[in-house]
Order: sequence, then C-alpha cells, then structure tokens
Amino acid sequence: MSATPVRSTSSTATTIAAATAQIGNLNLVGHPQYDLNNLKFNPIREADVSREMTRRYMTDMIDHAETDVVIIGAGSAGLSCAWELSKNPKIQVTVIEQSVSPGGGAWLGGQLFSAMIVRKPAHHFLAEVGVPFDDCNENYVVVKHAALFTSTIMSKLLARPNVKLFNALAAEDLIVKNGRVAGVVTNWTLVTLHHDTQSCMDPNVIEAKVVVSSTGHDGPMGASGVKRLQKIGLVKEVPGMIALDMNAAEDGIVSHTREVVPGMVITGMEVAELDGVPRMGPTFGAMMLSGQKAAHCAMKSLGLPNLLDV
Ligand SMILES: Cc1cc2nc3c(=O)[nH]c(=O)nc-3n(C[C@H](O)[C@H](O)[C@H](O)COP(=O)(O)OP(=O)(O)OC[C@H]3O[C@@H](n4cnc5c(N)ncnc54)[C@H](O)[C@@H]3O)c2cc1C
Repeated sequence: MSATPVRSTSSTATTIAAATAQIGNLNLVGHPQYDLNNLKFNPIREADVSREMTRRYMTDMIDHAETDVVIIGAGSAGLSCAWELSKNPKIQVTVIEQSVSPGGGAWLGGQLFSAMIVRKPAHHFLAEVGVPFDDCNENYVVVKHAALFTSTIMSKLLARPNVKLFNALAAEDLIVKNGRVAGVVTNWTLVTLHHDTQSCMDPNVIEAKVVVSSTGHDGPMGASGVKRLQKIGLVKEVPGMIALDMNAAEDGIVSHTREVVPGMVITGMEVAELDGVPRMGPTFGAMMLSGQKAAHCAMKSLGLPNLLDV
C-alpha cells in the first residue's frame, strides 16, 4: 500500500487533503492517513479542551457585542440574507438562532417529504451557492433533498470570516432608541424557556446597526420580531398569513421584504405574518430571494452600495 499525504496550512485552518492509495487492484481515492486497525489519537489535556472552547466563544461574544447586522433566525431566509451580506468582508454578520439546530423549516419539503421545489428565477441563487438541482422545466427546479440546500449554504457561510452563528441563543426583545431598533436582547434558549419557573434570569444584549428579523411564520417562537414590534407600538397590527396561494405568496413575500421600522428589516415567512400575505406551502425560492433582498435593505440602511438603489 502506498499513500501520499498532502498538507496545506492557512491562517484559519489546517487541512489534510485526501491521498490516493493502491491496494492490490483497488485504487482508493480519499484513503485515510491513519491505520484503522491500530488507531491512536494524539494526546490532549481536558483543561485545554475547555480553554479552547471557552476562549473562542467568549472572544466571539466580545467581538459581536457591537455588530453591523444581527440576523434573528437561521432558517432559509436568514441564511440567504447572511450569505448575501457576508459577500462584503467589511460587514460583520451575527446570526442568532434559538434552536440547537440551525436551518429552520428547510430541512424537509412539504409533509415531511425530501424534495425542495424552487421556482425560477431563484435557481440562480442555488447555482451561486453551489446546490445541484434538476432543471425540470421552464418554471421550476427541484433539489433532491431540502437538506442539500441547507447544509451547503450553511457550510460555506459559516466558513466566512465575517460571520458568526450563535445557536441555542434566543432573541427575547429588541433594543430601541429614539424610534430606531438598535440591537437585540438575548438569552440562552434554555433560560428563555424557563422564565416562568425561575426568576431573575437577566438577559444579555447585542447592539447592531441593523437588525434583520427572519423568525418564520407563527409558532412557538415564530414571528417573534413582528409580534414584539406590535407590542411596543412600532407596528399597528400583525394580521397573520392568509390562505395558501403559491403564486401570489412568493412574489408577495419578496416585494414586501423591507425595512419595516428604522433599523429593522423583516424577511421570509415573517413578512407574511406582518402583511397578511398568503401562505405558500413548501416552495422555498421566495425565502432565498427575500433573504437576499433583506441583505440589500440592510446595506441601504447602513449607507452602503446596494442593489435597491441601482
Ligand atoms: C413541514 C413544513 C411545513 C411548512 N408549512 C408552511 C406553511 O404553512 N406556510 C408556508 O408558507 N410555508 C410553509 N413551509 C415552508 C417553509 O417552512 C417556509 O417557507 C420556510 O421554512 C420559512 O423560512 P423562514 O426562513 O422564513 O423561517 P424558518 O425556516 O421557520 O426559520 C425561522 C428560524 O428562526 C428561529 N427563531 C424564531 N424565533 C427566534 C428567536 N426569537 N430568536 C432566535 N431564533 C428564532 C427558528 O428557530 C427558525 O430556525 C413549510 C415547510 C415545511 C418543511
């Protein structure tokens, strides 16, 4: 057996590229660079594990205590918004997600089926992200599993140096100063879920120049951004999404995506809750392009060049 390891080092990560091994007639590409019959990991001190995690997390919290854009909710709209914003390396993007598992509703298609239907022209976004799809006809494409979209965008997004995802962290409230949304009030989701059984569990804060709310349609945590805006009198009403009409819904979501109050952009299904747009069921193109538009709304609010001003 012969194998050639290739090691490359960058400032952020060290990767060991797969090597090719010839075993008899078998040509193994991606042959592992260790002996599976006699495996021994390099040593580590338990305290070092703790220090690495703690130092990095706390450093991230300090770095992101004041940020350019906070995105609440890492569903398809929030991830698409983060993708678009993070193309500008000067914009620091902070994504907070109440669930341990980011991705929102985009891990499955409708009725828990696998395929994700995406209406054109949103297939251009899939191509940009590098998600393979079946080009079915002139109107829509199909990604063979919704998880392929979510895992692909997430893996590339999280590798970008100007993006940090804090999961298991909930936005409990907004910071509002002089009528402008200026950040979010945060807490560990496990704490948020136990406010009625424990007392005096104060939250933390993240100041942001712009907040993008992409908390999805109504549910246990859904639509929490617009519901809070209503409660504090910054929007009059939140009528909720109306009955299903896929055609009207997708166009409506994208066209209604906007900076709803100074400093706060709404995207994804939360837009339908705010404006009474029809529900659409499991078609996801509007989530991607609404997220993309929300990023440009945020850039406009930041005073940066954007596609809405051209
Ligand atoms: C089974 C199923 C049913 C569907 N039903 C419908 C439907 O009825 N109508 C419809 O139009 N589309 C439906 N869809 C399509 C799909 O859910 C939506 O199009 C899409 O998931 C919405 O994307 P989003 O990014 O707006 O919200 P989501 O994918 O729901 O993502 C929102 C994210 O925000 C997070 N979040 C919420 N509140 C907070 C908070 N306070 N702090 C931090 N994070 C928070 C959530 O945990 C979640 O990850 C369905 C899809 C599936 C798979």
